[in-house]
Amino acid sequence: MPEFPRLVAFDLDDTLAASKSPLDPRMAALLVRLLDVADVCVISGGRFSQFEMQLIDNLENVSAEALSRLYLLPTCGTQYYRHSEGSWQQIYAENLSDDEKARALAAVETAARDLGFWESETWGDILEDRGSQITFSALGQAAPVAKKVLWDPSGDKKNALREAVQALLPDLEVRSGGSTSVDITRRGIDKAYGMKRLAELTGVPLSDMLFVGDRLDENGNDYPVKVLGVECVAVEGWLDTAAFLDELIPTLAPRTASA
Ligand SMILES: [Mg+2]
Repeated sequence: MPEFPRLVAFDLDDTLAASKSPLDPRMAALLVRLLDVADVCVISGGRFSQFEMQLIDNLENVSAEALSRLYLLPTCGTQYYRHSEGSWQQIYAENLSDDEKARALAAVETAARDLGFWESETWGDILEDRGSQITFSALGQAAPVAKKVLWDPSGDKKNALREAVQALLPDLEVRSGGSTSVDITRRGIDKAYGMKRLAELTGVPLSDMLFVGDRLDENGNDYPVKVLGVECVAVEGWLDTAAFLDELIPTLAPRTASA
């Protein structure tokens, strides 16, 4: 049986589940099977509460031993959660300072208003403090997917906003996130940062990891992982990911305890 990959890392939105939606039962079952044969990581720009709603709450018939092989990296790996003694524990969080947060919130609102991207019809908060990340969602955090895909199909609005905000915040990093979102973090915080942290934390070298994501294109939030040199699989939605796992899982040998 091949040894590769020892660890499979996944983006969350549009890779394991539809954007901001719970896992489909088929994907949940595949992840539980995968945990028997590999370590699994989920890394996303989203907060832990999104991991709970989309991922954790939908995993069924999964043992504590299997959950001990699941690594959760919300907000691009600036937070780290492991399952132990029956619950999910935050191992660390690298948060922005109050000054950084205040400047980030002001800059993104100013730039969005100047560009005419501050929408009046919204679903939930436009600005969100995720601790280690400030997130702008043009239509609000809870906007319907159908509305979101229509807001900026070319990606031009997000890119214009990203550039304008970056000019106002030279000491911070501004990236385009999901379909309508722009994320602000400390410099150098992206999914590549998260993957490097994961290698340090688990002792699994990057060369033994496989990453699956839907935005491995040059403007995508998964692209830094590809640049880092991790072997990547590009998907266009969770159905692609499910088809890939159907092929992958039978090629991996079951994990023995403490292997
Ligand atoms: Mg995605």
